[in-house]
Amino acid sequence: MRTVVTAARLWDGRGAVDEPSIAIEDGRVAGIARRDSAEPPDPLAGRGFQSPASILAQHGALAVVIEGDGKTFHYPGATLAPAFFDVHIHGAAGHDVMEATPEALGAIGRFLASRGTGSYLATTVTAPVDATLRALEGLAKLIDYPQRIEGANGSHQPVARPIGIHLEGPFLSHAKRGAQPAEHLLAPNIALFDRFLDAAGGHVRLMTLAPELPGAAELARHATARGVRVSVGHSDATAEETRAAIAAGAVSATHTFNAMRALDHREPGILGIVLTDDSLYAELICDGIHSKPEMVKLWWRAKGPERGILVTDAMSAAGMPDGEYMLGGFAVQVANGRAMARGVLAGSVLTLDRVLANFVAYTGAPLEEALRLVTVNPAAMTGMGGDVGKVAVGAPANLVAVDANGKLIASMMSGRPVPSLSAA
Ligand SMILES: [Zn+2]
Repeated sequence: MRTVVTAARLWDGRGAVDEPSIAIEDGRVAGIARRDSAEPPDPLAGRGFQSPASILAQHGALAVVIEGDGKTFHYPGATLAPAFFDVHIHGAAGHDVMEATPEALGAIGRFLASRGTGSYLATTVTAPVDATLRALEGLAKLIDYPQRIEGANGSHQPVARPIGIHLEGPFLSHAKRGAQPAEHLLAPNIALFDRFLDAAGGHVRLMTLAPELPGAAELARHATARGVRVSVGHSDATAEETRAAIAAGAVSATHTFNAMRALDHREPGILGIVLTDDSLYAELICDGIHSKPEMVKLWWRAKGPERGILVTDAMSAAGMPDGEYMLGGFAVQVANGRAMARGVLAGSVLTLDRVLANFVAYTGAPLEEALRLVTVNPAAMTGMGGDVGKVAVGAPANLVAVDANGKLIASMMSGRPVPSLSAA
């Protein structure tokens, strides 16, 4: 059956089309046309509706669904864009990715899909080596066979898919560990990294690494040669140590400002390099809690639409009521939008749709530039372009509809609309 999606505008990851009409068949984009020049005509024409605006008023809904030979979803006033890609997320919906079961990733994936995220890097936290290896083995099987996630618990709802793994630990700084458990931090170790990568079936795509640790540059060079992107972070590094990691292959920075040596005008440190090296991508958690809006603006001026990447760093409490939850192997208390462990922030309860809307509100960035930070840029940084971060003929129809302020109106995975879901 053919599904058609129309809206005021489409930003497909490269350019924009006004009044688009996207045809979807078998879950993939079959064609993209302008509504005035090709099939189908305005789905509202000749059906007795006065105008899209009157429909909104009458039904209090933003989507108009018209059933005929197929289904037409009309999002008047909205911009369609590729589904989001989150390169830093630990969990949601009461589950942590390190559980690495179809049920856990099914619950996480259904919730994320309802908030516009189509794919993500399952992000580990520092844990005992054996626990990490077990999690990586479990995650690898689910990345290879995503049908097991979709079918978990007999559900066949669309899910966000883990398409790789981000190793956040154990090669991090004690001084800037944040909530990462000190007792399991380790010095960079190439043999251990190889064990992690093998356990993960080669699916580790990103690794956070503190540049000042002994052997960090060697590990960065080795990881890069094996196809793993290196992100500097959880670090007290000097500017010189950070430059050495970049020379050894590091391409990004993990949650800029958080768990990083602060700026100093005589020793710029890691943050001075992250903000001024135009080749480096950089993540930001954008909630007004991890960084105040003025610092979000500073980051935006420094990194811009080509190098900024917005992330959630969400943990299992995302989409859940306040209470106590697990992050990897340790407990986190969540109250009023803050996730805390041992007195420090421990991830977030964010979703990428809220991160995007926060970012537009704090910076006034043009919507299409802001959209790059949750689609094109994470895909380019990880080298995972493929079907991710774009709307293109032949690619899976994973789309969002957002309003002019970046607020999510609708999410669609494989051409199927995903109902808004609270995980609880
Ligand atoms: Zn994290």
